[in-house]
Amino acid sequence: MANSSLVSYTKLSPNHSGKRNHAIDTITIHCVVGQCSVETLGSIFAPESRQASCNYGIGYDGRIGMYVEEKNRSWCTSSASNDHRAVTIEVASDMTSPYAVNDKAFAALIDLVTDICKRNKIKKLVWSTNKSDRVNHKNGCNLTVHRDYANKSCPGDYLYERHDEIVAEVNKRLGVKTTTSTPEPFKPYLVKVTASALNIRRGAGTNYNVAGVIRNKGVYTIVAEKAGQGSKKGWGKLKSGAGWISLDFCEKR
Ligand SMILES: [Zn+2]
Repeated sequence: MANSSLVSYTKLSPNHSGKRNHAIDTITIHCVVGQCSVETLGSIFAPESRQASCNYGIGYDGRIGMYVEEKNRSWCTSSASNDHRAVTIEVASDMTSPYAVNDKAFAALIDLVTDICKRNKIKKLVWSTNKSDRVNHKNGCNLTVHRDYANKSCPGDYLYERHDEIVAEVNKRLGVKTTTSTPEPFKPYLVKVTASALNIRRGAGTNYNVAGVIRNKGVYTIVAEKAGQGSKKGWGKLKSGAGWISLDFCEKR
């Protein structure tokens, strides 16, 4: 198992459990609570007395450090089961809520998360704002946060609220096809409607019966029963009360 080639500084911490007992399928993003460098993070996690670590850290300048190799379980999220399966990332942040991270660190985070996904065959990131979804990995959820496992605000509201943005950008880079909801095609049932079953309403409330409906390549032309209505945009509505639908109608011919 390789580590990220985006790492520019390595200071391995003694604070880890050795090999993971679960394949990497999750990412957990933390805030450092301090705008520190990768070197400072290295010295924080160096003493055994600290009893804490992370796989990767991102400094305020966007540089990326490694403190526990990816193959090993870091001591980061107050949960053995989470840290056995998650790559943990500490990101330099402000010291007070919402623990904002700067743009360079955020950009590096997107790069690093994308790289972790690619190398570990995580095809798509899935986030949920529901804790139960996260900790139970429901619906493919593969991002967890420290606050799920300990009475902490980590990763801070700044990063927490940007998980949607992180997911969208990383998935774009992973080539995940976004399922944009294509609007239902214009329903052809209107063609079958007899003129008397359809009203045309223009402006505030006057109904106009129509003489016919002409369909041409999905465009519906409503011919008004009364002369003199002119060629106008209108709204068609079934007399049964079914939904409004945009229509064009023109003068009786
Ligand atoms: Zn944390």
